Amino acid sequence: MELQPVIGLEIHIQLKTKTKMFCSCDNSGENKPANSCICPVCLGHPGVLPVANKQAIEWSALASLALHCQIDEYSKFDRKHYYYPDLPKAYQISQLDQPIGKNGFLWIFNPEIKEEEKVYINRLHLEEDAAKLTHKGNKKDTLVDYNRGGTPLMEVVTEPTIKDSIQAKLFLQELRQIMRYLEISDADMEKGHLRCDANISMRPPGDEKLYPKTEVKNLNSFRSVERALEHEISRQTKLWLEGTPPTEQTTRGWDDSKGVTTDQRSKEEANDYRYFPEPDIPPIHFDITKNTCADKAIKINIECIKTELPELPEGKRKRFISEFDLPYEDVKVLIEEKKKAQYFEQVISELETWVNTQAKDTWTKNKPDLTKLASNWFINKLFPLLEDKSLDITSLKMTAENMGELIHLVFTQKLNSNSATEVLTEMVETGADPSHVIKEKNLGQMSDESELENIIKKVIEDNQKPVEDYKAGKEQALQALVGKTMAETKGKANPEIVIKILKKLI
Ligand SMILES: [Zn+2]
Repeated sequence: MELQPVIGLEIHIQLKTKTKMFCSCDNSGENKPANSCICPVCLGHPGVLPVANKQAIEWSALASLALHCQIDEYSKFDRKHYYYPDLPKAYQISQLDQPIGKNGFLWIFNPEIKEEEKVYINRLHLEEDAAKLTHKGNKKDTLVDYNRGGTPLMEVVTEPTIKDSIQAKLFLQELRQIMRYLEISDADMEKGHLRCDANISMRPPGDEKLYPKTEVKNLNSFRSVERALEHEISRQTKLWLEGTPPTEQTTRGWDDSKGVTTDQRSKEEANDYRYFPEPDIPPIHFDITKNTCADKAIKINIECIKTELPELPEGKRKRFISEFDLPYEDVKVLIEEKKKAQYFEQVISELETWVNTQAKDTWTKNKPDLTKLASNWFINKLFPLLEDKSLDITSLKMTAENMGELIHLVFTQKLNSNSATEVLTEMVETGADPSHVIKEKNLGQMSDESELENIIKKVIEDNQKPVEDYKAGKEQALQALVGKTMAETKGKANPEIVIKILKKLI
């Protein structure tokens, strides 16, 4: 029997607002001493009044727009009740039936089949995070850090239409990139800024029914999401083949070191959350142009938020591929970070200016070669250099104009690759311009042909054997002479010009 996986994801994303979701406590508590960023509101003392963080609502609306979600006129908060040490109020302020965004989708590019695939999103809502529990000594002792309690958390829920583990991983990576492009979350999975639970069941092809699902928790890397889903697919397939498919919904935890999921009794199981509308927080009104807007509502200007939406990875990917004639693999690396992509575009624009100082149509004629050359220098030289030196592109001293000039020097063969690498390293360190570095280090290629001719004449005189061989028709003998010339000029000669002169003189 052939079976198909049915996968849905629930992703929690920590927003990096200055303050917490419903109080004015510092929201950077993860880097502060435990229980130092707390107040009566986020500790759930009786009689306190929560005040919603407008920035968090605006950012959730921005994320909803980026995920092509519909945003209704109204949204509201609800109380979700459960009792647990990480939740001092014994309820979490969340959203039940009027989330901020719903019915969205995301295009992801699958490099294996070289096609775009659509992943449907059910909803995006906003809630507060619970405290952080650290279990010690076989769960006998548990430490609670309330710094994380009450921090703004966005939950994105996909439809169960993800077809395999690779698509799940690609979706998460795209989502992380979008959050970073929007600059609303660091979305670092290892640090728990982006947390994922995966729901999975199997079914025969053509069957539209949803069978009892397994919820897999503790997935804290893209790799673990992929591996856990692979493991569940084979575990559940085996149960189906044995005639005993899962009959009830279960929760399992992922054990990364053993590479298996294990049965987990969840605190949520058989739980009635007794949701009801949060009475202390007014509803959110997104369309403030209407005069139906309630006086007390939290007013959010959605038209204004729409103008804040930047170009997203999907659009940038397509534009870079068509505008710069670059392959997908290059573009993927170039646009990984918004700031790096911006810098690349600035350099291309400067390069165009440099190239056009030669002759007006040089750029148009050589554009694909020039953009590919620039892309290679970014991916193979500049990015590894930044990584090596732990430098951020935003703090780079080297201007885009100077980087453009360097690539132009390589393109016009005034600088060979080894020398250019040396120049680039110096430019990244000091911010100096390339012509200055070349002069200082005496790295420029010899462009004076008469000087080169004198050197080559001497090379021919001193190496009669290869000269005779070449004359006798041995083409590769010329390479020996090129090598000798390069050695004489300490690598500063342009090999193509050397060959031209050699052929002329012999
Ligand atoms: Zn607080």
